Amino acid sequence: EWSPPFENAADTDYAIAAERDAATEAMETVRQQLGQRYRPIINGEAVNTDTSLDSVNPSNPSQLIGKVGLTSQAQADAAISGAKAAFADWAATPPAERAAMLRRAADLMESRRAELNAWIVLEVGKPLGQADPEVSEAIDFCRFYADEMERLDAGYAYDYPGETNRYRYFPRGLTVVISPWNFPFAITTGMTVASLVAGNCTLLKPAENSSVIAAKIVEILYEAGIPHGALQFLPAIGSTVGAHLVQHPDVHMIAFTGSRAVGCEIYAKAAQWQPGQKHLKRVVAEMGGKNGIIVDESADLDQAVQGVVYSAFGFSGQKCSACSRVIVVESIYDTFLNRLLEATRSLNVGDAAAASTKVGPVIDAKAQEKILSYIETGKQEATLALSLSAPDQGYFIPPTVFTDVAPDAVIAQEEIFGPVLAVIKAPDFDTALAIANNTDYGLTGGLYSRTPSHIDRVQTNFAVGNLYINRSITGAIVSRHPFGGLKMSGVGSKAGGPDYLLQFLEPRHVSENV
Ligand code: GLU
Repeated sequence: EWSPPFENAADTDYAIAAERDAATEAMETVRQQLGQRYRPIINGEAVNTDTSLDSVNPSNPSQLIGKVGLTSQAQADAAISGAKAAFADWAATPPAERAAMLRRAADLMESRRAELNAWIVLEVGKPLGQADPEVSEAIDFCRFYADEMERLDAGYAYDYPGETNRYRYFPRGLTVVISPWNFPFAITTGMTVASLVAGNCTLLKPAENSSVIAAKIVEILYEAGIPHGALQFLPAIGSTVGAHLVQHPDVHMIAFTGSRAVGCEIYAKAAQWQPGQKHLKRVVAEMGGKNGIIVDESADLDQAVQGVVYSAFGFSGQKCSACSRVIVVESIYDTFLNRLLEATRSLNVGDAAAASTKVGPVIDAKAQEKILSYIETGKQEATLALSLSAPDQGYFIPPTVFTDVAPDAVIAQEEIFGPVLAVIKAPDFDTALAIANNTDYGLTGGLYSRTPSHIDRVQTNFAVGNLYINRSITGAIVSRHPFGGLKMSGVGSKAGGPDYLLQFLEPRHVSENV
């Protein structure tokens, strides 16, 4: 009998009235806690800072979520010294003990799920239906990487008569984790606990816009037993203190998820040897995407329309996995397009905390401006087929669809990171596949088809890290869908997959003549 290799945490079932009540109650409780102060935590101490930032609710920017103290360069250096001093003990802590801490953290997340969901809804404007799976994903990362560390700790024995040969994994040292705001709970947890369970002391620099959620993760990890020296919490401005951490000679590796521009900068900076540095750094960078879904003439259009709408407009298109291009074969183009527009029109745009909302705001004013300017570009180079209306207060962008988009148009090539979909017509499947591959990126991709030869072809010829056939292209689940891209989508191996922890470890081999 088939049994799943890993048991994923179940999402909340909001069909159950008690779950809905718990969500409402948690939202109320969290609203009472808005506007508090959060500080960097260095060697276990919450430190005062000269500057701070206001983290606000993107659905309603006059609502302060929290005031976050910003780590100075000198404080970052103190955190690095603390992490260095803590390293020997943390590295010597048995992997099974470190794994047990992650499992405790997972249980704590499970018990605080409704509250954590509310923080995600309010701080980044992610509707509850997508916030809750993020908490599941974070729980999965904790339990999966705990299992993985125990598996890897066994190492390998390559013994010969008269000679024992042991291959084992050791921690690398200090990791700087630079996390994104779009999966503020799941991805921040994932990168941080992977580094920790591998025995590395970890300096967490969260995305500015989701620093309060990151503070909750840190609180949970300390409560689960992670020592203060092993985890330093450094909310800070990326371009200054983040860059300083990346360049620091005592840092061994950087785990980053975010934009292509910042990822490339980190990769370059980390490569430069600094005086006093006794190693070369490793960078794991999960970057952008310009993900395409191909819809061929044999596709089930009910399925395709629903999958494209969800992949393009879920969390306002702010997933690196989101669909931003749909490439449709000519013979079904008109039918598909009409149905796509109809389905898009039915999306409710509004406050992420409202139960009826399908599409919430985008993260901040800067993002809103950038997306609007891409929409202007789109109007020059393509046909605006649909733009819904959206509330004026808050950082809203209405779901927007362009047609007559040339495969090399700006809106077909550059990552917009918003609810903007380019529809591209292709004469046949072969051309559609070529168009789908004509991008710098290679993160996710999709195909809707009932033609076996097409399904067969994409498996080797569609150059993406995560290919989805006859389903939506977002929402990778830990262990079931190890996640990460090719080409300019990133460097390093897949989160939630069998190779991920290896990146945080250093193999050593011992050969003994006996
Ligand atoms: N893992 C997420 C998904 O499959 C996307 C992660 C990201 O946007 O960085 O949808």
